[in-house]
Amino acid sequence: MKITRIEVFQVQWQPNDPPGARSAFVRVWCDDGRSGLGEVSPMQGGLVSLVILQQHVAPALIGADPLDHAVIHDRLLHKLMKLGPEGALSSALAGLDIALWDLKGQLLGQPVWRLLGGAWRTALPFYSSIGGNGAARSLNDVLRIVEARLADKPAAIKIRFDNDRVDLDTEIPDHIAKARAVRKLVGDDFPLAFDANNGYSPSGAMRVGRVLEELNYWWFEEPVQHYHVRATGELAQKLSITVSAGEQSYTPAALADLILAGVRMVQPDIVKMGGITGMLRCAALAQAHGAEFVPHQTQPTIGHTAALHIAATQLHATKPCELNDPSPRMHALFANPPKPVNGLFHLPAAPGLGLTLDEAELKRLRVALPGA
Ligand code: CA
Repeated sequence: MKITRIEVFQVQWQPNDPPGARSAFVRVWCDDGRSGLGEVSPMQGGLVSLVILQQHVAPALIGADPLDHAVIHDRLLHKLMKLGPEGALSSALAGLDIALWDLKGQLLGQPVWRLLGGAWRTALPFYSSIGGNGAARSLNDVLRIVEARLADKPAAIKIRFDNDRVDLDTEIPDHIAKARAVRKLVGDDFPLAFDANNGYSPSGAMRVGRVLEELNYWWFEEPVQHYHVRATGELAQKLSITVSAGEQSYTPAALADLILAGVRMVQPDIVKMGGITGMLRCAALAQAHGAEFVPHQTQPTIGHTAALHIAATQLHATKPCELNDPSPRMHALFANPPKPVNGLFHLPAAPGLGLTLDEAELKRLRVALPGA
């Protein structure tokens, strides 16, 4: 079996979407005519990762065996290391790895979760992840949106505060008022999480964390700047609420640093961190250290499905899977996009990732790379 072609392209979901709102996909073809699909991190439309794949990865892969995906990943990571492994390079290789696993499943006639050693569960609960709750949104609007999302029957709700990372702590009173109001709305026992998106100083985070403890929130995500690994660990050790981080880590070594600093819930993202191969390594690392492995995931088609395959195979699933805000990306392009039914995602049993691509729709939505 040999790789014959690698296609990289963006997907523009709506005609007026700016380039930065596009998804970034990779498709790997092999000599029997089958193909696998992967997705890279969509930061700025994923363009930098797609260029790395097109310019530096694709030429080296023609003729390679797609079943050698882990060797391919590690060889390319080391060959291209000086592009910087903490970012676009790792994301490029993550997308490639997801595509190769999708292809592997089709070549072997098995769903990815079975190739990973079998599923502990194929029906997976989720939490609704609600972004944009900072000062620009009124408290009443926050409550209205939370109410609307409860209709999906999530196992939990996470409210995210995506404020300006260069202006720490200024919105703390607003955030605390909203955290209190949401708790009051959903009742004492409904599981809630709070995502600071790196918006606080260590002392600001301590202040918010103590309120979240009083309000019985389940976890406190990325309280301080992501590069302040020791400060994140110190908060995790000082607060009784679970402090989580890791969505901005791109290598198992970076995740290990968080765990060694004291963080006990890590959230690597499959479209950033080595794809399925990388996430397996992260899961082993977390398990060996007694840290909760709770993948971050905000891309509703390929990334989400790939993350579900991983979640299904994990021994300890202590938290539900992430389901991001509703998006036009959710129900186009695939005949069977992942959609929850009665609070659960059901993993497909079809080979590979199990997504059925609508080729005509892809033709309509795909955008070639500049200059291609
Ligand atoms: Ca987050």
